[in-house]
Amino acid sequence: MQLLAMRWALALLPVALCVAGLDAARAANAQPPYQVDLRVVDAGLEAEFRLGSATDEFRFDALADEIRARSWSVITCNLVLDQDSIRSRKQRKFSRFTLLIRPDPAGHDQPYPVLQRVGADGYLLYTPHLLTSTMNAAPQIRVRLRRGLIALAGGGKHPKREPLQFLPTDRYVFIGPIDYVSLQAHSATVAPPEMPAWLTLTAINAMEHVVTQYAQRLDERLSTSPLLVLQHSDEGADALWRGDTTPGYTISLRFSGSAWRQNAPPLRAIVTSFIAHEAFHFWNGEAALSRDSATQPWLHEGSAEYAAESIGMDGREPGPAPVMQQLEECRSALQDAPLAGQAGRSGLAPYSCGALLFRAADHATKPATESGFFELWRRILQRSRAQGGVYGVNELRDLLAGPHTRPEATEIFDLILGGGADRWQTIAQDLHALGIE
Ligand SMILES: [Zn+2]
Repeated sequence: MQLLAMRWALALLPVALCVAGLDAARAANAQPPYQVDLRVVDAGLEAEFRLGSATDEFRFDALADEIRARSWSVITCNLVLDQDSIRSRKQRKFSRFTLLIRPDPAGHDQPYPVLQRVGADGYLLYTPHLLTSTMNAAPQIRVRLRRGLIALAGGGKHPKREPLQFLPTDRYVFIGPIDYVSLQAHSATVAPPEMPAWLTLTAINAMEHVVTQYAQRLDERLSTSPLLVLQHSDEGADALWRGDTTPGYTISLRFSGSAWRQNAPPLRAIVTSFIAHEAFHFWNGEAALSRDSATQPWLHEGSAEYAAESIGMDGREPGPAPVMQQLEECRSALQDAPLAGQAGRSGLAPYSCGALLFRAADHATKPATESGFFELWRRILQRSRAQGGVYGVNELRDLLAGPHTRPEATEIFDLILGGGADRWQTIAQDLHALGIE
């Protein structure tokens, strides 16, 4: 069985989190520049746009142009979708138009998919793709639902099984059968009945476990319950998976391949560590946000990776550290380039090099009985609360500069963040000196 991780998809997180959102109440009270009415139809979602005034052109964000070309069509006569713009064929002004938005058959490109199918009757909509790029104010997005369907978004006190009338404009929203939704003690889950039962159960248990564990270790409870949206398709034989996290503490996990039908320990381990990685972003990407997320993604990605390794799942102890693999991945990703530069932003570099750095920090600061890593993050989050919920590389380096930190860790940070082809031997020696094998 071939297992392929689509880890680049996780790197989308900080971009999505930078988008400011409107909650339902604010959306209902504000004066929106335009309205979007959504309706579920057989082929997807019908979206009727009603603009505040007539215009020659309505322009969307160009980011999703390729997705629109594949899966959107204009229903209104004499209007066309031309890349990111709706225009009149006859050069006339218009003030309303209707689109048919179908699920994207490719479904896995950056940016986030606009619309994904969830089971036979549900959809996951990424609402930012319905916004125009020419106005700062957000529209009012409403959804009309048949009996038995629900619109559900994360971010409230607890995602309830009550339909939303106005959709938030910055996150994933599930639109589909209410029967797909289940509420747990600390989270809510959307899982269509076609999902392999073991997979749904494993994901739910992992989410409940990590959310309580992280809250305890970081001494910070989440202000809302996360929403987990699960999908599976039998397409292909190999077990593939990808996922992303948007505001509203919402995680979308997409599994494909018939291999997922079989409950196997390696697959269970993938699911649990995948969720543990994504859930750490609730703290390091939503409760607090890295000001360096665009330039130094290793800070939020590497820490999520190391948190997932460290937390211990299914009552098991954390697994053996894949440190040599991470060192090799980091070395081949960077060669002689610095992690704090361009090379550190792509491929495996943020994950492998970042996890390696947090492993070094963990070992270098850990007292005999306490986790250095989680204590470090507890303090970073504590500091961020006094700075408007923001943290960055400087805060981490400050905390590591204390007298109790082993000097080998500081050297590893300097070497990996800086450049040089001849540093890898020294890094390996320093890891060894810290007891990391
Ligand atoms: Zn991530």
